Amino acid sequence: MPTYTDALRGYAAKILARDNYTCRYCGLDGRQSFSNWLTLSEDHLLPKGHPKRNDAAFRVACCQFCNVAGNRYLDQAAANGVNFEDKTPEELVALRLPVVQKTRDAYRQFWEESVRQSGNAAEAPSSTSS
Ligand SMILES: [Zn+2]
Repeated sequence: MPTYTDALRGYAAKILARDNYTCRYCGLDGRQSFSNWLTLSEDHLLPKGHPKRNDAAFRVACCQFCNVAGNRYLDQAAANGVNFEDKTPEELVALRLPVVQKTRDAYRQFWEESVRQSGNAAEAPSSTSS
């Protein structure tokens, strides 16, 4: 077996397997399709510099969108005085979830209005009779 240095096959592989290859925020299942699996990564629940940041217990499976959607969360939480010391991994996921969900909802609205409808228009028969 080669030694992989990427997240999917390397440093995050055990985290993903433990979490059943499922994003802890949106539930995207990496076992359902190859495309889904490709979007998986890991999310750190603790801020940079925290001694337990790289402990497996404080890293969770996360799709790329949810990871980016919650990117600023740790900074904001620290600024708001959130104490990370007394929180379990489950509590930390629950704290971050509303932030991720809010971003997802905003993107969902854009998708409904701009992306989904453009798909319908493309399916409409084109009348190019000459
Ligand atoms: Zn997700």
